[in-house]
Amino acid sequence: MSLKTSREPLITLSGVHKYYGDYHALRDITAEIGAGEFFSLLGPSGCGKTTLLRAIAGFEEISSGVISLSGKDMAGVPPNLRPTNMVFQSYAIFPHLSVAQNVGFGLRRAKMSAAEKSRAIGEALEMVGLGSYGGRAAHALSGGQRQRVALARALILKPKVLLLDEPLSALDRKMREEMQVELMKLQREVGITFVLVTHDQEEALVMSDRIAVMFEGEIAQLDDPEVLYRRPANRRVADFIGVMNFLPAHATGEGVSVAGLGTMALEPAQMPSGPLSGACSVGLRPETLSILYDGEVARSRETQGVIDEVVYYGDMTYYDVRLEGAEAPVRISMRNVVGRDVLDVGARTRVAWDPRAIVAFDG
Ligand code: ATP
Repeated sequence: MSLKTSREPLITLSGVHKYYGDYHALRDITAEIGAGEFFSLLGPSGCGKTTLLRAIAGFEEISSGVISLSGKDMAGVPPNLRPTNMVFQSYAIFPHLSVAQNVGFGLRRAKMSAAEKSRAIGEALEMVGLGSYGGRAAHALSGGQRQRVALARALILKPKVLLLDEPLSALDRKMREEMQVELMKLQREVGITFVLVTHDQEEALVMSDRIAVMFEGEIAQLDDPEVLYRRPANRRVADFIGVMNFLPAHATGEGVSVAGLGTMALEPAQMPSGPLSGACSVGLRPETLSILYDGEVARSRETQGVIDEVVYYGDMTYYDVRLEGAEAPVRISMRNVVGRDVLDVGARTRVAWDPRAIVAFDG
């Protein structure tokens, strides 16, 4: 877990607490967000991510701790005087105005000539791929286009930080996936720091440089997507991000022993909660296990099992396989390929796995 950024720090959160009456909504939040970083706050509903975003924006006063932007303590600084701008979930587009008028709305009080405003609007629309849409009526736009208008309106003010609260949640799945990639590209192009709030782990993994996973007002882990996925700090994070098989295990001096897999030695990095002893559990991602077809050999270790359940997804299939000697089945994901049939429930199969893919947790 790295609370510090390797970039120049732009937002510094130190010991931030927030109470709503007796309710402790933010508990000792400490983290740095770097200049130009795409940073996500990820967690289940009610974990405090929106509260933290609003606190950075200045809409919410914190109970204790310090939030500073570019080294300046933001205590008492109102939202409009902070170098931040917020894009809301319900992207508040004015339907009776044109696209250009919507984007220019933020400039209404700016001391600029009409020509300068018009140029800025054009540039902002260009940035979000709506260069030729300025004259269109906003009500005639698709959900994804509205989202882009909202982004252009926020970007035109040239904030140092763009705060995004579930900006894609109103879009359908396909549009959301497209916008995830677009938003990521846009962030790289404009180089502004983005802080995104989402409860969608896939969204966070796709777009972010670093992700803070939050539960009950606390940061449970702050890391880049790959570390978060491969080396979750605890069982709760492991369970929240992606799919994880948990198997009961027992730690001894020689390593960890798991029913169905045998005994293996683990590297320290595979034990995020420190050295283990006695009852513990191990986690294995479905894609780190694979079913071996005729003639295939395991690169690392091999075991046997019987297929308990088959879930077909078109591009891939999930197999729940009961490994020999194990109590519960493990989930294995296999990419479907031409010329290879999906296996049936009840089939005996060989399973390849790799001890290096295992993470072990205490308790
Ligand atoms: P969601 O994804 O559902 O918006 P969240 O992680 O963003 O969840 P917050 O909106 O930050 O969560 O809320 C954190 C907790 O603080 C919740 O339990 C919420 O009920 C509580 N809370 C938020 N705002 C207030 C308020 N103004 N007064 C009292 N409690 C509040």
